[in-house]
Amino acid sequence: MYDIAVVGLGIAGTSTVYQAARRNLKVIGLEQFDSVIHALGSSHGKTRIIRQAYFEHPDYVPLVLDAYREWHALEESIGEPLLIPTGGIMMGRPEADVITGSRRAAQQHGLPYEELSGAEVNERFPGFHITDDEVAIYEPEAGYLRVESGLEALIQEARRYGAEMRFNQAVEDIQIRDGHVVLETPSGRVAARRVILTVGPWLTRWAPDLPLEVERQVPMWFLPQDHQHLERLPIYIREHPHSGRQAYGFPYIEGQGIKAGVHHQGQVSPLEHVNRQVTRQDIAQLMEALDFIPSIHPDSLHEAAVCLYTNSPDSHFVVGQMPHEPGVIMAGGFSGHGFKFGPAIGSLLTDLALGVRTSPALFHPERFR
Ligand SMILES: Cc1cc2nc3c(=O)[nH]c(=O)nc-3n(C[C@H](O)[C@H](O)[C@H](O)COP(=O)(O)OP(=O)(O)OC[C@H]3O[C@@H](n4cnc5c(N)ncnc54)[C@H](O)[C@@H]3O)c2cc1C
Repeated sequence: MYDIAVVGLGIAGTSTVYQAARRNLKVIGLEQFDSVIHALGSSHGKTRIIRQAYFEHPDYVPLVLDAYREWHALEESIGEPLLIPTGGIMMGRPEADVITGSRRAAQQHGLPYEELSGAEVNERFPGFHITDDEVAIYEPEAGYLRVESGLEALIQEARRYGAEMRFNQAVEDIQIRDGHVVLETPSGRVAARRVILTVGPWLTRWAPDLPLEVERQVPMWFLPQDHQHLERLPIYIREHPHSGRQAYGFPYIEGQGIKAGVHHQGQVSPLEHVNRQVTRQDIAQLMEALDFIPSIHPDSLHEAAVCLYTNSPDSHFVVGQMPHEPGVIMAGGFSGHGFKFGPAIGSLLTDLALGVRTSPALFHPERFR
């Protein structure tokens, strides 16, 4: 009998196994594929943005500050950098969400930030060329996470604290018994006091009553010849002044190139119908959104990946007790911005399983009723 069984080992699941094991709980993690690093879910693609002045809602700020502490603690344990500071810049018209929301979060939580005009942005960061009617919010503490190293570090540390992890173990069924749960796996039953579902886009199958949608996303990597000025870019999100599309991206990274993508506006479909091929339309859409970085050309396109968002109607996370399923806790609906919070979400989920914390109102699954 385990204290906690965690189903699905993307960033949310590996983080939960790690946090539960750190607290001396008897924990098992089960993953359907042969590795945490695979291209069919949401936690692949080399890098993820991390930032503090959270335009989506100021209530995320304490959680992201917690995540910074956790990522740094993990770096110290493994002796390797995982969070690379670059600074971060949000650009758009003065009324754009990324501008007003970032300012609001920074002011409310006393975070350091600077306001820049369009001309100041272009002068300070020669890779960008935004229009005069745009402005920016710059935050010095933003940066990016090294995805694969982060996942591997979580697994390694979880095992060091005594966690068990099994791969090629698709959980087929969960039965609720008196005071515990029984999971059906290809190699037999697993019993635990609590189960935590961190199954990413597969949550749409386990919780069909929740209003979650799977959205296809296609980040791309470019290898521009002249990349010196792109190496010093901060991470960025720019809301296009005409289309409203949000392009995001990273500085040029040696061995990877420059990664960029469009946040949302991908195709929504049931998981089994996701088109896993990159199309010309994907490339055209991204190039249009990147019109403010003139040195990125489609000719220098080097790599692209299909990745999935699991969206909730308000784009806020869904973390808590599964409706109608006592004993089952879930975390999903990360709506394209969940990776950075990994170890903090793992801690929250462990607390929920132990009954020592309740779901934050912003993430409560019952809010859609
Ligand atoms: C293109 C792209 C860019 C992004 N950029 C950022 C960013 O810059 N910053 C940021 O913070 N976030 C970002 N995100 C969002 C972030 O990556 C996701 O929120 C996060 O990875 C979701 O992780 P997860 O663990 O919930 O899901 P997943 O990574 O999909 O993991 C779920 C796991 O569950 C397993 N599983 C499913 N069903 C079963 C079963 N029955 N039995 C066993 N295992 C099962 C799956 O195989 C999978 O490994 C981005 C996402 C994408 C797609």
